[in-house]
Amino acid sequence: MDTDYAQQTIDLYHSLVDNSLRQMPFDVSSMAAFQKWQRKARRQVGQILGPMPQEKVDFQLQREVVLETDSYTQERLVYFTRPGLQATAYLLTPRKISSSAPGVLALHGHGSEGKDGVIDPGSIYSGFARRLAEAGCVVLAPDQIGSGERRLKADKVDYSVLIHGLNMLGHTLIGVRYWDLVRALDLLEGLEGVDRKRIGVMGLSLGGEMTLFLSALQSRVKASVVCGYLTSHRNTFLGEHHCTCGYLPSLARYFEHVDLAALLVPRPLFLDSGKKDSSFPWTDANALVKELRAAYRLHDKPSSHLGIEIHDGGHSIAGKKSIPWLVRRLKED
Ligand SMILES: [Zn+2]
Repeated sequence: MDTDYAQQTIDLYHSLVDNSLRQMPFDVSSMAAFQKWQRKARRQVGQILGPMPQEKVDFQLQREVVLETDSYTQERLVYFTRPGLQATAYLLTPRKISSSAPGVLALHGHGSEGKDGVIDPGSIYSGFARRLAEAGCVVLAPDQIGSGERRLKADKVDYSVLIHGLNMLGHTLIGVRYWDLVRALDLLEGLEGVDRKRIGVMGLSLGGEMTLFLSALQSRVKASVVCGYLTSHRNTFLGEHHCTCGYLPSLARYFEHVDLAALLVPRPLFLDSGKKDSSFPWTDANALVKELRAAYRLHDKPSSHLGIEIHDGGHSIAGKKSIPWLVRRLKED
């Protein structure tokens, strides 16, 4: 029989996955042990994301009304997140806004449409940003680097060079995006009428991943909805091809997805997962929720603090349960 030399490499890879994956799992043996784990794990995640700016630059915020509907006003915003780096975003402000409205960051995934996707009811996002605005939330939907108005032009430094070049320098594209979103949170919670104690984040795919990292490290996020992402490294990035920006150096060595989710505990978390999403299997999302319940139980939190909507769609948001859940969590005291 011929020796399959290629298979030997694959076998080596699988044994490394088995032996190296998840060396820092969350610990529910006691409250003290869990909190100690969270502190250590947050430091580790921070290191993986790469160095962050030491100072916050002035936003030099530009605002322009682009649409008025019966229920909200839509503005286009431009603001600085670093020296020389500006983000573009939509801001949806409900017409009838109370003095303490919830604020939500609405995060798109890969693709050229960027912030336009999350307000389009016909897109994979089911227009969740405008649905949240119609429910009384002030919604900030930024373009992430590489999408919408921040789409990269054909250039020697393309998306791939950006990702791998940043990695060679000890930075990560996810880390650069993370800082953009830290500033988006700053902007959102500083807006007139927004209650800074009622800030939520919701996103799909890359937007779900960014929701996870932002909520994990920023305790000012009160409630989070992660769609089409939270499952497992083993059956997503480690098992098949995904966009290389998500292959953060050493991330899977320390954590599985459920551990990253445990960094949000005891704050509320909801998953939105499609049965036909072959890239992020709903069975893994469901198993994650079951495993994570122990961390919420440790904190005596009601079962409403952790939930999942499993829908019949693919890599998309349904939002039937997840959107009302987020609005409820942000409006309750
Ligand atoms: Zn990417």
